[in-house]
Amino acid sequence: MIPFVDLKRHHATLRTKYLDVLSSALDTGTFTSGVAVKQFETEFADYCQSSYCVGLASGTDALLVGFLASALVPGDEIVIPANTFFATVEAALLADLEVRLADVDESSGLMTPSTASLAVSPRTRAIVPVHLFGQPCDMPGFQELSRERGIYVFEDAAQAHGAKVGLRRVGSFGLAASFSFYPAKNLGALGEAGALVTNSEEVASAARELRDHGQVRKYCHERIGLNARLDEIQAGFLSVQLGYLDHWNSRRQELAEEYCYRLQGLDEISPLSSTVEGSVHHLFVVRCKFRNELREHLAGEDIGTGVHYPVPVHLQPAMRERGYDKGDFPAAETLCEEVLSLPLFPEMSVEDVKYVVLSIEKFLSGRVGSAS
Ligand SMILES: *Cc1c(COP(=O)(O)O)cnc(C)c1O
Repeated sequence: MIPFVDLKRHHATLRTKYLDVLSSALDTGTFTSGVAVKQFETEFADYCQSSYCVGLASGTDALLVGFLASALVPGDEIVIPANTFFATVEAALLADLEVRLADVDESSGLMTPSTASLAVSPRTRAIVPVHLFGQPCDMPGFQELSRERGIYVFEDAAQAHGAKVGLRRVGSFGLAASFSFYPAKNLGALGEAGALVTNSEEVASAARELRDHGQVRKYCHERIGLNARLDEIQAGFLSVQLGYLDHWNSRRQELAEEYCYRLQGLDEISPLSSTVEGSVHHLFVVRCKFRNELREHLAGEDIGTGVHYPVPVHLQPAMRERGYDKGDFPAAETLCEEVLSLPLFPEMSVEDVKYVVLSIEKFLSGRVGSAS
């Protein structure tokens, strides 16, 4: 049996370190906004080669607080890819921004400067490249678009902790970047957590206020904020893990390369998530015209898979009053029908990859057999 992810195994060797974190919280009696949060913020800002990190309660809060802290005001237009996890758009709508969706490049699933520029209008104030599946977007291209059009870049880096463009890690290419530490992400808390990373002191200090009810000091509420604070113990757990992140990411890289190598001869299967250099392979995504059949076959062989994502943002029920139609973003729609995420986690073995690919081959030869 090969599960899609195996978090139990992932954390097993860190148990005593986690228990130390928990003990120290119980010893000090500090459970939120303490030294562990500050320490993780310093470490993660350094890791992202950025000046500031503000710990938050989730990746969605990081997007929401980030948008609110970036001097965007209600009605400002923001460009977001139609192929992303719904939270990117949800947070923008909760911040009362005017969302304009952009299609993506079919070979990577990413929004590119050219797919984005079709959506940029004179009213656009910000653009949100999403580093989907761990693949870094074309940040030099987005920076150029940003200069040309006078718009902010805000990175959604929820799936790309440590991904690189050249020598530089994602998270420092725009005004700010949001990260998620949802358990299954490359860096995942033992619960919910997220962070905003920025080089702007203004954005960082606004985000610190916003996460704590807009308070500048106790009971002085300078703005309307929310409770989006990061827990002490989650911060402590994340500090433990941060020391292993590069190792985990390079393990993902090796496994992704093994998948690519072994899938090479199969015409019906094309890997998506390794087309971009500097990827941290949050997911290993392939395209297949008969995705649902393949998925069922793999389930029958005890191989876990995922679909990221089955429905594009513009066709979600929550978007139904916003005037979108099927056909509006063809690449995003095609991908939603064809993508399949294969098992990929740092503790997987090369043997596991071989087994998955063998099962795929078995499926394909069975199909040929049934067609003739
Ligand atoms: C996971 C994710 C989020 C949301 O993060 P949470 O921590 O689950 O709130 C946002 N954007 C993308 C692209 C994600 O993958």
